[in-house]
Amino acid sequence: GLDAARAGAWVRRLAELVQERKDELTDLDRPIGDSDHGVNLHRGMTAAVAALDAGDPATPGAVLTAVGSALVSKVGGASGPLYGTALRRAGKALGDAGEAGTPELARALRAALEGVVKLGGAQPGDATLVDALAPAVEALEAAAGRGDDPAAAARAAAGAAEEGALATTPMVARKGRASYLGERSAGHQDPGATSTALLVRALADALE
Ligand code: ADP
Ligand code: MG
Ligand code: MG
Repeated sequence: GLDAARAGAWVRRLAELVQERKDELTDLDRPIGDSDHGVNLHRGMTAAVAALDAGDPATPGAVLTAVGSALVSKVGGASGPLYGTALRRAGKALGDAGEAGTPELARALRAALEGVVKLGGAQPGDATLVDALAPAVEALEAAAGRGDDPAAAARAAAGAAEEGALATTPMVARKGRASYLGERSAGHQDPGATSTALLVRALADALE
């Protein structure tokens, strides 16, 4: 399951994926936003890795809480508070357990989604990161119901998040900067949904 070491590996893998895909994320934010999503997340994940290096948290919950706090404090724009809240909520849901199995992971990601929805008010279909996170949570819950191990559950969740991100392309954005374009926001894949799929893929990679 997800122990502190694998939670750290999750964060470091996400930082690596964000670095590799930084320009692509920023390009997705160009026609419907302000061309900073990759830059924002890269700055945040660099701070998150530095926080882990400095603090060496002892539980997976403490890892996610530290990363969430780093993102909130280092990333301006919508994605910092949204991602930061998501990870802090997930960390809090894990509590002080030393290891999380599939049911605990599903509960943690459900709490993350609830935090994002409470803060940002987006519903599925609004072309936001909710459109990647919600299917990932549903996939984790289904995996928990089947008794899947965490690695298999995370792989299923990553696939669901990637499909969810692709499915934002035809949507009209109803939250965030992209919503200022109204109907003209349709035809563009949402940057935040795309990076959220990287977050879930990084979890699957860390649990392999
Ligand atoms: P900003 O729009 O402030 O420049 P970013 O470019 O870093 O911030 O992040 C934009 C992403 O944030 C969007 O692609 C979308 O997925 C997400 N987002 C924006 N507003 C909301 C919201 N209210 N709820 C959920 N996600 C949102
Ligand atoms: Mg932006
Ligand atoms: Mg911005």
